[in-house]
Amino acid sequence: MDDVQEAQSSRPSRRVLETVTFARPRCPRCDGVHLRKYRSIRDQGDGSSLCWVRCIAPDCGHRFRLLLE
Ligand SMILES: [Zn+2]
Repeated sequence: MDDVQEAQSSRPSRRVLETVTFARPRCPRCDGVHLRKYRSIRDQGDGSSLCWVRCIAPDCGHRFRLLLE
């Protein structure tokens, strides 16, 4: 169903929206995507959050930090 304001507008109703990619974090050692968070600071005061994660790939286990801006 179309939005009412969109339908009354003179602009075309089907605009192409910008796409912003939110990439999943990957392990810097093995490029794996299966990570387990074991500690986090939800908000560091500036809206960003920091997590400590461990790669759960059986032959990796690399630990690193993850910063979400
Ligand atoms: Zn890994």
